[in-house]
Amino acid sequence: MPQKLKKIIRDVPDFPKKGIVFKDITTLLKDAVSFQRMVDLMSHRYVGKGIDLVVGIEARGFVVGAALAYKLGAGIVIVRKPGKLPHKTYKATYELEYGKDSLEIHQDAISHGHKILIADDVLATGGTAAAVVGLVKKMGGNIIECAFIGEIEALNGRKKLEPHPVFSLMKF
Ligand code: AMP
Repeated sequence: MPQKLKKIIRDVPDFPKKGIVFKDITTLLKDAVSFQRMVDLMSHRYVGKGIDLVVGIEARGFVVGAALAYKLGAGIVIVRKPGKLPHKTYKATYELEYGKDSLEIHQDAISHGHKILIADDVLATGGTAAAVVGLVKKMGGNIIECAFIGEIEALNGRKKLEPHPVFSLMKF
């Protein structure tokens, strides 16, 4: 586990609400050496795997996803909060700790058989990534893996993504 990278991620207690320790990756992103190392370590895993598209989840997943896509010579597809994408979309609604949320993807973003890497910063309960998995499957995408900078192990989010492989650079 890359301990130096883990150390540079900032813990923000009680954000966005009491009792949650928020893993703030902005401190990693702004450090040139750490950012490059994170992208190199994550992308290395997928070199030669024929990834067609990286699907990045709003908003920090855009940063991770775009960097991975560039390194892999793949395209980047963005999954956004409702009402942000201009063309026809598919929508997935999922449960949060408090209430519900939705995500949208352009209907023509993925074609049948495309090899897909789903990317986000933190895997917590897995609800968000599971919604994206659902969208990608509905469109016929072939999910190669779901990749995260870090995973909050105690929440067991990877269970929600089964049977798809999950990779995280570090565990919290
Ligand atoms: P979940 O659906 O519970 O897996 O939550 C995942 C989404 O919420 C990701 O997009 C994360 O960026 C964000 N998130 C949830 N919990 C945390 C946390 N403790 N620290 C940082 N980000 C979090």
